[in-house]
Amino acid sequence: MQCASRVVWHNHSRNQSVLPLRICRPTELSEVVAIVQQAECERVTARAVGSHHAWSDAALTTGYLIETHRLNRILPLETDLLRPGVDTRMLVRAEAGIRLRELNAALEQLGLALVQMGGYDEQTVGGVISTATHGSGIGFGPIADYVVSLDLVGSGGRVYRIEPADGPTDPARFAERYPTWELRQSDPWFDAARVGVGCLGVVYTVTLRVRKLFYLKECRFQQPWSQVKPQLLNDNTLRQSGHFEVYINPHPTLPGGDHQCLITTRVEIPEPTGKTRDQLQRNWLTEIGADSRLLARGIRFLYDHFPQRIPWLIDFGLKRLVDPEYCNISYRVYNIGTANHLPAVSSEIGVPVDVVRRTHVQAVEEVFRIAAKWREEGNVYHSSPISLRFVKQSTASLAMMYGRDTMMIELILFHPTTGGSELLAAYEEALSKLGGRPHWGQLNYLAGDRAELIKAYPRFPEWDEVHGQLNASGVFNSPFSKRVGIVNRALLP
Ligand SMILES: Cc1cc2nc3c(=O)[nH]c(=O)nc-3n(C[C@H](O)[C@H](O)[C@H](O)COP(=O)(O)OP(=O)(O)OC[C@H]3O[C@@H](n4cnc5c(N)ncnc54)[C@H](O)[C@@H]3O)c2cc1C
Repeated sequence: MQCASRVVWHNHSRNQSVLPLRICRPTELSEVVAIVQQAECERVTARAVGSHHAWSDAALTTGYLIETHRLNRILPLETDLLRPGVDTRMLVRAEAGIRLRELNAALEQLGLALVQMGGYDEQTVGGVISTATHGSGIGFGPIADYVVSLDLVGSGGRVYRIEPADGPTDPARFAERYPTWELRQSDPWFDAARVGVGCLGVVYTVTLRVRKLFYLKECRFQQPWSQVKPQLLNDNTLRQSGHFEVYINPHPTLPGGDHQCLITTRVEIPEPTGKTRDQLQRNWLTEIGADSRLLARGIRFLYDHFPQRIPWLIDFGLKRLVDPEYCNISYRVYNIGTANHLPAVSSEIGVPVDVVRRTHVQAVEEVFRIAAKWREEGNVYHSSPISLRFVKQSTASLAMMYGRDTMMIELILFHPTTGGSELLAAYEEALSKLGGRPHWGQLNYLAGDRAELIKAYPRFPEWDEVHGQLNASGVFNSPFSKRVGIVNRALLP
């Protein structure tokens, strides 16, 4: 196994860094077990990382940092260990360090596809499930909701297979094959382990429910906020909208103080044949533009010297994204393209979709209010569109969408944006009053208040009980877990 020391570890956007004691790059399960056991012997911490895409401090550790990118194989399903009658046609099992990009390509070869995905594919499966990463469409939960079974290395280097109470594995056959492992078929364990933010151990494999390969048609068009708002308050429109998301200019640029929006809809279509090249790709000019360093420098210059031009620039960017038709295989359409390469940081806050109390719409208007306050009083401009994505309620205890259909408000900022952290903290504080739950993998300002955690996540005590067992030695403690208040205080320093 490769190990390195005296190497500073950075996340993808370089807004987080740490000097861990060691960076370890295991290639098989036994090496992961050995790292965890050695960390416990040395009384230091250990933490798995995926492809470094969390903007938050969720992946940091000062102990042994476990890079999982060499654990990236598709594995056999072990059908001989399953209960009789389990339908395996739509199941796939892979090591957790596989990136979505690699997984999508492998699934395509098998005529299969992920049911749902976020806007990017560089992250690992372990990383996306651990933070409840999601896409958009109120009929679809976060990726963690498509997990049917997972293998995890916990404290003591013990290996667990964790599944719901009616999980697919046959206990007797399992015990015979893996006498030293533990099979936990328990809803509380399964609901905890899917979204563990690295605190419960190292996820080694994940078995996912997938579907037959399919195609999507995406359409992007502009509408003012005054027309979008009633659609968000109409339950039928929301539920019939399939894959649906909205970008909004947080600054009012339209007559009457209205805000420009860009609506994205995605509908399933048969394999697109006879389409023009234009219809089979995103606007190439916009794609090249978004990928250029020159654009990032231009925005930086404008931000530093003419911040009052930012609202206009956001409208310009939204207009460039208008596209009547883009058809492709599902995972290419889910991926929002080269916009992912722009230097950015982001917070994302989940609020309940509640058409009666209008909570989700109030939350957007709160964001407008705060953006205006910072712009008018502090000359600090929110430097990017905000996005609204819709996610079905999840059963994972620490998913931001646990127990309620959720609208995730993504608050993207060019990096660096002067006053950006303060602005994001102000949004988080205001939206927490509307039941907001910040994305674990995006910038958040949670500050260790256990009562607040329980208020936001009613099953947190149950999650913490599982945590107490899987992290019995405290080996998976981290600066992040201390900050948010999920540390096992009895244990390691
Ligand atoms: C460009 C970009 C686009 C994004 N798009 C979206 C989006 O569309 N939707 C959305 O919801 N989020 C999105 N995010 C956030 C991102 O999906 C999450 O932060 C995700 O957790 C990152 O996965 P990763 O593999 O990079 O994991 P890391 O960032 O490396 O780790 C994230 C967390 O997962 C834990 N972890 C990773 N692997 C394992 C493992 N094997 N076992 C146990 N714990 C593990 C880490 O300890 C850490 O707590 C985006 C981020 C970026 C930078």
